[in-house]
Amino acid sequence: MSTKSEVIFKVKSLKKWFTTRRGLFDSLTGKQEYVRAVDNISFEICKHEVVCMVGESGSGKTTAARLILRLEDPTEGQILYKGNDIAKEKQSELRKLRRHMQMVFQDPYESLDPRMTIFEIVSEPLRVIKICPRSEIPIRVMKALEDVGLIPASDFSIRFPHELSGGQRQRVSIARALILNPEFIIADEPASMLDANTRIEILNLLLDLQVRYKMGILFITHDLAQARYLGHRIIILYLGKIVEQGEVELVIKSPHHPYTKALISNIPVPDPEAKRERIEIEGEIPTAIQLPPGCRFSPRCPYAFERCKEEEPELMMKHGRLSACWLD
Ligand code: SF4
Repeated sequence: MSTKSEVIFKVKSLKKWFTTRRGLFDSLTGKQEYVRAVDNISFEICKHEVVCMVGESGSGKTTAARLILRLEDPTEGQILYKGNDIAKEKQSELRKLRRHMQMVFQDPYESLDPRMTIFEIVSEPLRVIKICPRSEIPIRVMKALEDVGLIPASDFSIRFPHELSGGQRQRVSIARALILNPEFIIADEPASMLDANTRIEILNLLLDLQVRYKMGILFITHDLAQARYLGHRIIILYLGKIVEQGEVELVIKSPHHPYTKALISNIPVPDPEAKRERIEIEGEIPTAIQLPPGCRFSPRCPYAFERCKEEEPELMMKHGRLSACWLD
């Protein structure tokens, strides 16, 4: 997709390293350790494209999303949006650029101010960024509420968040993200705290809005099934690095990287008779402080061999997708 469509975001060699708290010994020796939350990732997002970023907790996916919108400052790297490097822009310029890129957060209970009405919450970005006359604000708010299925909009607009269900609150978050007519939104696990039926409603709503609003979406999830349902392309993150990236159907039907294979082999299949080789990965994702030498997946990889423990593989084109693995 990235070769045919207009690229709206280009992330280049992006890093976010956090310094760890130093103990007395470290202070005396001058030694400093870093948590490499995001460690040199590069990817593109095209106009009208849904890119799913998938990883376990601790993989760096939420940090990557926050960096892209400059909710955090990167340690290194570029985030190019239409010729502007978001990583270097001043706050005044960022405010203008944020009109085009919005975020839907994971927790619909925490992300809405309980003291504000739904009208005040959804209209807030318009009041801050001032892209339309004040008289137009109610019309835009009602349209956004209707677009996310909160009907009658006039009824919902005067309620407070505590009067709504989790799914309705997430619809409010989405309406607030849409009100500026963004070119691109980041949705950070927007359905993970909802029950199964509401989850599918929210995913369908995002798909519908992506087409109607002609926008790109970076969808962050730990759930490969959701990624397959929504995405055009998929990015698999492990310990702050991209380990596989490509067209979603290709990667899910024939994964190359052993980590992706293991994730896919552990998705429950509806037919209990259907046979699928299950690949077990040992242990939990380690911390991003003391990374193993060589391939960072090697301590858990069932296919690891000598080279894996000595040299770290970068992303290489393998069978039509990018994979950071020494295997052919
Ligand atoms: Fe496994 Fe080696 Fe590939 Fe890393 S490079 S994923 S350790 S086979």
